[in-house]
Amino acid sequence: MDIEQFRKAGYQAIDNICDHFYNLQNLPVRPDVEPGFLAKSLPDAPPEKGEDFQLIADDYHKVILPGMTYWPHPSFFGYFPTACTFEAILGDLYASSVPNPGFNWAASPAATELEMVVMDWLAKLFHLSPDFLNSSGIGGGALQTTASDSALIAVVAARSKYQKNHPDIPIEKMIVYVTSQTHSLGAKAALVLGVQVRTLEATTEDDFGLRGATLAAALKEDIDMGLHPFVLVGTVGTTSSGAVDNITEIVQTLKSVDRDVWLHIDAAWAGIALSCPEYHDWAHLKAINEYAHSFCTNLHKWGLTNFDASTLWVRNRRWLNDALDVTPEFLRTAQGDAGTAIDYRNWHLALGRKFRSLKVWFVLRAYGTEGFQKMVRRHVNLNEKFIDLVKSSNLLTLVATPSLSLSVFRLDPVDTTSGERRSRSATADALNTLNVQLHKRLSSRSDVWLTQTSLNGTFCVRLAIGSTNTEEKHIDHVFKLICEESEATLKAEKWLKD
Ligand SMILES: *Cc1c(COP(=O)(O)O)cnc(C)c1O
Repeated sequence: MDIEQFRKAGYQAIDNICDHFYNLQNLPVRPDVEPGFLAKSLPDAPPEKGEDFQLIADDYHKVILPGMTYWPHPSFFGYFPTACTFEAILGDLYASSVPNPGFNWAASPAATELEMVVMDWLAKLFHLSPDFLNSSGIGGGALQTTASDSALIAVVAARSKYQKNHPDIPIEKMIVYVTSQTHSLGAKAALVLGVQVRTLEATTEDDFGLRGATLAAALKEDIDMGLHPFVLVGTVGTTSSGAVDNITEIVQTLKSVDRDVWLHIDAAWAGIALSCPEYHDWAHLKAINEYAHSFCTNLHKWGLTNFDASTLWVRNRRWLNDALDVTPEFLRTAQGDAGTAIDYRNWHLALGRKFRSLKVWFVLRAYGTEGFQKMVRRHVNLNEKFIDLVKSSNLLTLVATPSLSLSVFRLDPVDTTSGERRSRSATADALNTLNVQLHKRLSSRSDVWLTQTSLNGTFCVRLAIGSTNTEEKHIDHVFKLICEESEATLKAEKWLKD
């Protein structure tokens, strides 16, 4: 393909993408396909001779696109939303036309410096402490692929910091703390590093958030046994229910034991709400700003920026460099040696890195603080509408306190004779079975998508709102479908007479 052919194919691609977005809400959210479907419609080896691009583009529309689940669909309520904005798409397009693996300053000066600037803009957007700013010269932030990578990097840095300060402690004695609601990234980081992990309980009574007393008891037990907890992954907005660990109590506890425990905050989804001052107390921002060693949120979830774009800030960049700097001679540069520029390769696991800051810059300029706030508040309002519908329903109940734009609910019908919810008389197992059946029905639909979770043994369904184009009518629609499927489940499971 030469430049003029690229121009033509490029115009056509943008036209096709626009048509796709115009048409999106008429498409099923999920494709009707079975595992292995795609290999059957593709040749089993690459072509001997190169093919005409028009053929390839046509096949993308014929074979690939219809086999996708459409995350930006207005009726996608599963997992968490993944952001999709045109500004970010254009940012990725431009970035891929300067395909620099910007691992150090000299390799791509503007890519490094734009990343330094947008990370500071973001820290200010989320009201993080000035300690985390790149311009502080001490702390700083970098873009990462995912929250899992961010957590792994934080745990690697925490381990190296702890080992530097306590050189005699064997790795077998070191423990990562997570909670029963922490995303699997905590356990995965421990698995990768070969360190023990202890899961602290976040109870139903505490709305699935970790309390200071639970942490204090675990610390005492482990320290008495000669173990060394060195990092705690705290969560603001858990994946299951959007729960928030009581970071204020956690910080008080960590300060009182004074044992060099790194506090990483995983706010992969909910962190974006820090753009709105009304959520600062809810998220324990003051305690985070006072004490947390690292903080992560994903722009690619709720932050208007297409996958991938996770953020990681640390209060001291030296911790990352100490843990991850292995500079061979061929990577040394005058600027790196002089310490006048950040070499981001020491802030993540790989060497090469994408030019992610460009799309972030586009998004931040196009939306501004106001755009972020408007989006968060709009989605929270839509969830409030859903919550009102659930609360007025004789079929459904909320299982956890709704969190921002996430609600967790289940089928728990009111008994028409006693006027009481069936959970008062039915066994926990029976209600779980009922809800598994409800979720099965909902998942067999292609016009909406909701995912399930289990909260300390209670099976429930999640509704996560966050597509750019979800409106009130889509909330009404999904609620109506949930009610219809609930009635059908009650009949099929013989909880109701036909
Ligand atoms: C989604 C989510 C993650 C995982 O995010 P990735 O970027 O896919 O690794 C981690 N923690 C929380 C709380 C999440 O909601």
